[in-house]
Parts: sequence; C-alpha cells; structure tokens
Amino acid sequence: MPQLGFGVWQVPDDEAQSAVATALEAGYRSIDTAAIYGNEEGVGRAVAASGLPREDLFITTKLWNGDQGYDATLRAFDTSLEKLGLEYVDLYLIHWPLPSRGTFVDTYKAFEKIHADGRAKAIGVSNFLPEHLKTLIEATSVIPAVNQIELHPHLQQHAARDFHAAQGIATEAWSPLGQGKGLLEVPAIVAIAQKHGRSPAQIVLRWHLQLGTIVIPKSVTPSRIKENIDVFDFSLDTEDMAAISALNEDRRIGPDPAAFDVV
Ligand code: NAD
Repeated sequence: MPQLGFGVWQVPDDEAQSAVATALEAGYRSIDTAAIYGNEEGVGRAVAASGLPREDLFITTKLWNGDQGYDATLRAFDTSLEKLGLEYVDLYLIHWPLPSRGTFVDTYKAFEKIHADGRAKAIGVSNFLPEHLKTLIEATSVIPAVNQIELHPHLQQHAARDFHAAQGIATEAWSPLGQGKGLLEVPAIVAIAQKHGRSPAQIVLRWHLQLGTIVIPKSVTPSRIKENIDVFDFSLDTEDMAAISALNEDRRIGPDPAAFDVV
C-alpha cells in the first residue's frame, strides 16, 4: 500500500472525478473513499478514464454502519464494487466499530469471505479502539491489515499505535492535517516550514511519513493536491520531529469510537 494516498471525504460525486484525476496526474496511486461519501461512482469514473493499469492503483472503500451484519455486508460490498466499476478493491474497511450493536464480528466474517474470494485483496477496520481489535482478533482468523484512525499532531494515538505495531496492523491516519483548521497555523509548525522552505501541510505530512504512518490527505484544490504529494525530497531532523511530537493534546476532531453509533 502506498504510504501516501488521496482522501475524498466531503468531495461531491460530480467533483470526485476531476479531483481524483488531478491526484492521479500528480502521482497519487492510492485513493480512499467510502460508501457513505457518496462518491464511489466519481472515483470509479476517474480510475477508468485514467488509463492506468489496475494493478498500479490501490483503491480503498469502507462499509457503512447501517450495512453491518453478515448478509448486509455482502450486499453492500457488491454495491460498492459496482459503483466503483471494479472487479476487486485493494482494501475494504469496516468504517466504525459500533460497539453497542455488537455486529462487527459477524460483519468481519463476511469480510473474510470477500477476502477469500479475492474481491478485496486486503481487509481491515477503521476507528477501532484496541479493545475492539482484541475482540475481533480473538473471534476471527485474518488479522486486520490496517486500522484507519483519526491521527494528527494534536491527537497522536500512542497507545493505539503501540497496540497495532504489536499485532502487525498498519496504522493509517485520517484527517492527517487535522482538517487544515488551526493545526497548520501552529507557530512551531510554521517555524519548521519556514526553516525548510516548505508549507505547513508538507511539514505535517512529513512528520507522519517519518513516524511510519500511512496518510490520506484530502484537497480539491489542484495546487494543494500537488503540494501534498511533494514531500519525498526533504526530511525533518530529530529536533523538528520532537517539536511536532510535543504538540499532542489527545484532542479529537471527530467522534469517540466507543460512543459513535450513527447508522
Ligand atoms: P485532512 O486532514 O486531510 O484535511 C483536509 C483539509 O485540509 C482540506 O479540506 C483543506 O481545507 C485543508 N488542506 C489540504 N491540503 C492543504 C494544504 N496543502 N494547505 C492548506 N490546507 C490544506 O482531513 P480529512 O479530509 O478529514 O481527512 C483525510 C481523509 O481521511 C478523508 O478525505 C477521508 O478519505 C479519510 N477520513 C476517514 C474517516 C474515517 O472515519 N475513517 C474520517 C474522516 C476522514
């Protein structure tokens, strides 16, 4: 899986094709969508129009909460594949654990079937806390390849990352730029950006990459789409990394996975 990909949350279907096309032209090969984003068709159109060989691309989609359960998952996966216009996805994720509903184990058993059938090359989860992962791993046979969680300098997720590393699960950061809000104006990040002659977004992405995290920054602005992948020709030094790591506030932007149960 490429360590840097392109996220398309909040990109309307009719804009997704051009945004993904711009990303593919800029060199992205990994695209992160989800059934709930309502843009799997736009992503699929961009993939088809790109002319790129399917094996060069890494497409992730996610099962929405209302489709949890064994049979509903199989049906929802068929719909996603059809919308994407693909024969397989590279990674299929359970979007949220919904612990109060108790359905993620059955859901994941359907994922294991989809994986065994070769229609998802890898399967994993999103927003799972270590306690949810423990339950899942005890009850199923395929260790999730990935856990995609909220992760940025204000929410560094040390306990989750340690748990993932011990289990061989890759950590993928959603909202890696903290949704671009206050984070990119934090003085310590701006100072490091000035030192390297780079943008604050590039500094934050570089911090993730050097920690070993998979990142999927989102933008619909062509210049930012290009800027966000132009991060492989410089590196942060130990002092820069420490200054960003000192910004942790254990502060979420998104919901708490233990409580979130919107379907
Ligand atoms: P992000 O951290 O990628 O921030 C995106 C925002 O930052 C943009 O809308 C823009 O306002 C700003 N931005 C982007 N590039 C910039 C640049 N170079 N300079 C200045 N500002 C810039 O936030 P996100 O979209 O929430 O997260 C990225 C992806 O993660 C999503 O698109 C989606 O694919 C995924 N995601 C998954 C979940 C989940 O529950 N699994 C939840 C949220 C997001």
